[in-house]
Amino acid sequence: MNYQQIIEDIYEEVKPLLGKGKVADYIPALAKVDPNEFAITVADLEGNKYHVGNFEQKFSIQSISKVYTFAVAFSHLGDSIWQRVGREPSGNPFNSLVQLEKEDGIPRNPFINAGALVITDMLFDVLKEPRADILQFIIGLTGDSSIDFDKEVATSERENGYRNAALANFLRSHNNINYDIEEVLNLYFCHCSITMNTNELANSFLFLANGGVNPLNNERILSLSQTKRLNALMMTCGAYDEAGDFAFRVGMPGKSGVGGGIAAVIPGELAIAVWSPALNAKGNSLAGVQALELFTTKTGKSVF
Ligand code: GLN
Repeated sequence: MNYQQIIEDIYEEVKPLLGKGKVADYIPALAKVDPNEFAITVADLEGNKYHVGNFEQKFSIQSISKVYTFAVAFSHLGDSIWQRVGREPSGNPFNSLVQLEKEDGIPRNPFINAGALVITDMLFDVLKEPRADILQFIIGLTGDSSIDFDKEVATSERENGYRNAALANFLRSHNNINYDIEEVLNLYFCHCSITMNTNELANSFLFLANGGVNPLNNERILSLSQTKRLNALMMTCGAYDEAGDFAFRVGMPGKSGVGGGIAAVIPGELAIAVWSPALNAKGNSLAGVQALELFTTKTGKSVF
């Protein structure tokens, strides 16, 4: 399969879409990003990498970080996490408050903000230095020690993060946050602010294509069964209230972020990361989703 040619063709085809959506501006520091940026990296399990566009440019991974925090919590706590968070798609925007009230403070899944806040709270139970340990986890997956938080983005979100503060307080009222709310929110904003490029993102998702084993050092991160479950969660809940359409169009388990990144896998084969900051109405990268749809259409590969 000539992935290089395929992603070059995809880049040409999505060029008219670049800048068509809207860059996230509810986090003011994100509003500065050029909406016309674009990059794809494909990393396969044989160690090949293919890139187009600005694949060395780091961007804010935002909600994609929820995959790493979930993987860390799941690897430590196993199925006990399901007492505090569900595993159904929410059908609501990622920052919605309404469902949480009706469902007694148990978030629908770990990838909506409420669920990710609960997972972040769990990390204080299992990690000695949650900030440093999350970074170390991602560095271990990519082999790249330059990966870091973006303090400006974290501070910008913290200063404007009223909805997440509301969610955290509400969760606390249901005893589904145990640690100090400010500390939980700060850790959450920190992990959302991590910057990576598509090359690093694709590399970091390879363990999910590889049955839970980090191909860099053969270290097992999740069991086969846990890897199946994480991939299933990405398939059903990874693109907010557009997860159904993402499965329909793209057909890969994947996770998006409001920084315009999306990382996805074909188990047993490859990981792919795309980045284009202009978002569609649901908060997913407009050109990014199209690029992934073209990828599975042109290669004939998907999980279906
Ligand atoms: N940090 C962002 C928020 O909480 C992440 C949202 C996202 O990428 N969907 O709103």
